[in-house]
Amino acid sequence: MEHKKETHQFKTEVKQFMHLIINSLYSNKEIFLRELISNASDAIDRLSFKAQTDAKLLEEGAEFKIKITPDKTAKTLTLSDNGIGMTHDEVVENIGTIAKSGTAAFMQAMEKSKNQNTLAPELIGQFGVGFYSAFIVADKITIITRPAGEATATKWESTGDGEYTIEPAEKASRGTDIILTLKPVEKDEQDFTEEWTLRHVVKKHSDFVNYPVVMDVEQIDTETDENGKPILDKDGKPIKKAPVIREETLNSMKAIWAKDKKDVTEEEYKDFYSHISHDWNPPLTQFHWKLEGVTEYNALLYIPSQAPFDLFMPERKHGVQLYCRRVFIMDDCKELMPAYLRFIKGVVDAPDLNLNISREILQQDALVRNIHKNLVKKILDALEHLPLEDYEKFYNEFGAVLKEGLHSDWANRDKLAKLARFKTTTSEGKWTSLQDYVTRMKPDQNEIYYMTGDSLNAIINSPHLETLKEKDYEVLLMTDPVDEFVIQALPEFEKKKFKSAEKGDLDIDKVDETKKAAYSSLFEKIKSLLEDQVKEVKPSSHLRDSVSCLSGDTYDVSAYMEKLLKASGQSMPESKRILELNITHPVMEKIQSIFEKNQDDAALKDYSLLLYDLALVGEGGKIENPARFSRLIGELMAKAMG
Ligand code: ADP
Repeated sequence: MEHKKETHQFKTEVKQFMHLIINSLYSNKEIFLRELISNASDAIDRLSFKAQTDAKLLEEGAEFKIKITPDKTAKTLTLSDNGIGMTHDEVVENIGTIAKSGTAAFMQAMEKSKNQNTLAPELIGQFGVGFYSAFIVADKITIITRPAGEATATKWESTGDGEYTIEPAEKASRGTDIILTLKPVEKDEQDFTEEWTLRHVVKKHSDFVNYPVVMDVEQIDTETDENGKPILDKDGKPIKKAPVIREETLNSMKAIWAKDKKDVTEEEYKDFYSHISHDWNPPLTQFHWKLEGVTEYNALLYIPSQAPFDLFMPERKHGVQLYCRRVFIMDDCKELMPAYLRFIKGVVDAPDLNLNISREILQQDALVRNIHKNLVKKILDALEHLPLEDYEKFYNEFGAVLKEGLHSDWANRDKLAKLARFKTTTSEGKWTSLQDYVTRMKPDQNEIYYMTGDSLNAIINSPHLETLKEKDYEVLLMTDPVDEFVIQALPEFEKKKFKSAEKGDLDIDKVDETKKAAYSSLFEKIKSLLEDQVKEVKPSSHLRDSVSCLSGDTYDVSAYMEKLLKASGQSMPESKRILELNITHPVMEKIQSIFEKNQDDAALKDYSLLLYDLALVGEGGKIENPARFSRLIGELMAKAMG
C-alpha cells in the first residue's frame, strides 16, 4: 500500500478551544487522564455493543481493558484500549474538529463568562473537554489506532500548534494507543510517570469505569511455605523474592447501583454521578430504586443541579445507560425515558433483559416498555415529594422541559399538571402551582386566566390585563415557548377551564350596549380605514386605562405563537387580528365627535392608524411605519400644548 503522510490544519475553533482549556485547566491538569480513560471506555462500550450483532469483531478476544504505561526514561505516558478503534477518516473527523453541536454553544458560554482566560471548572465539565485536554501535559501526542475487524492502522501526531500529520501505520491488535510525550515537570507539579500519582488519579476520577484500568507494577512477594505462611530468615524477617512485574487493576469498577442503599455513602453517590455525567457540580438529588416482582430492575438516577447547555438541542443525548447484570448494553437509552425527562442521568440495570437486544427492537420489548412506564411513575412521584426548596431549584432548571410532558404524555397528564408551576400577575416573581391558583380564585371567578408572551415584563404590563387586574383576578404568565402547547393540551384543571386573557371576549363585564350602538358607525369607518391591518374593530372588554389593543378570536393562534412559528421558519398565513377599542376612554369620545361633524375628515385616517400603532406598541410589537407614528404623535403634542 502506498505510504502517504498528510499534514492537516486544525479547524480554527479547535485552536481556540485548545488555547482556552490549556490556559484554564493548568491548575487541574490531572483531569486529562479521566478524559482519555473515558474515551477509551466509550470505545470499548461501542465495540461491545456492535459485537452483539457481529461476533467476528471480537475474534481477538473479549477481555476488555484499558492499560496505562508510564515510561520514566522516555518521559511518555501511553494509554491503550482494545475498543473499537478508528479508521483514517474517523480520526480526521473526530480528532480534528470539535463535536459540532457543542462548539457554538461552548463559545457562547465563553462570551458570557466574562473572564476570558479562566473558565470555571463547572462550565468545562459540562462540555467534556475530551481529548484535547491531554495537551495540558503533553508536548506531543501520537495516536495509533486500528479498527476492530480491520487490518490497517492509522497514526496521527500533533504538537498541538495548529497542525497534525496522519499516515498509515502498523498495529498488532485492535484499539487505540495514545502516546503522550510529557512536558517537563516543574517543581511541585504532579509527575504522570509516577506510579503513585497515576494510582491516585485513576482512583479519584475513574474508579467506576466499567472496564479494568490496569498498569504494570513491580511487586516483591515473600517466600511462603506449603501452607502459605511466610518463611522467615534468621532475623525473623520474611524472605523476599526477586521483584516481578504484574498487571494490577487500579479501579474498583464498583457497580453501586446494584448495592443496597444502606451500603452506599453519599460520597460514593456523588462520585458516581460525576463519573457518569462528567458534571463536576454535585447533583441536586438522586433516586436509587431496586424493583422486584414482574418488572425487575435496579435504577440509580440523578437530577443534575444545573441544566446542560444543550438541553433544547434536538441531537442531545439522553443520560440513561442500560445495563444487564452489570454488563453494559447501551448509552443514551431513549427507550427508557420520555423526552420530557431527558435531563435525568443514571443507570438502569435490568437482569431479565435479552443481552442481544438491539436498539431497533428495544422499543418493542415488553420488559423495556414496562420499565419505562414504571420509572416515569416513580420519578413523577419522587418529584412531587421533593422538599419545596429542592423542587423550586429543580423547576428553575428543568421546568420548561418537564412541561413538555403535558403535551406528549397523556397518561400522566394529571400528575404533570400538579407538578407544573407558573408565575402570575400576583406571585411577585415566585412560582405557583395550579392547585394554589385555584384556591386563590375570587368567589365570582369561573376560569383560570392565562397570557402567553416572550417575557414576563412585556405581558405583565400588557393592556389586555387591565380589566382582569381591576377585578383582582390572578393571571398566569406563560413565557416558555412550550407553554403554547401546554395550554392546548390542558383544557381544564379541577374542572376550571383555562381562558386566554388575550383572545376572545372576557365575558366578565358586559360592554354597555347603548354605548356600543352609538359607536357602531364610527367602528365601521375605522374598519374600512384599517382594512389592510385588521379583520374587525370592536369595543373592548379587556381595557381600562389604555385606548386600544389587539386580540385574536378564541381559536386563533396567539401573538406569541405566531412569533414562535415564524421564528422557527414555518410559513404562517397572514392572520389579521381584531382591534379592540376602549369606549370609555376620552380619546374615543373626541374621535367620535370629529366623525359626527364630518364623516370624511382626513384626520380620521391618521387617528385610526395611530390607534392601531398604539395597540402594537402596547404589546411590545413592532410598528410598521415608525416615522409616521412619531410624526403623528408630534403633531398631536403640538396641538395639545397649544
Ligand atoms: P468526546 O469524547 O467528548 O466526543 P473527544 O475530543 O474526547 O470528544 O473525542 C472525539 C472523538 O474521538 C470521540 O467522540 C470518539 O469518536 C473519538 N475517540 C477519542 N478517543 C478514542 C478512542 N480511544 N477510541 C476510539 N475513538 C476515540
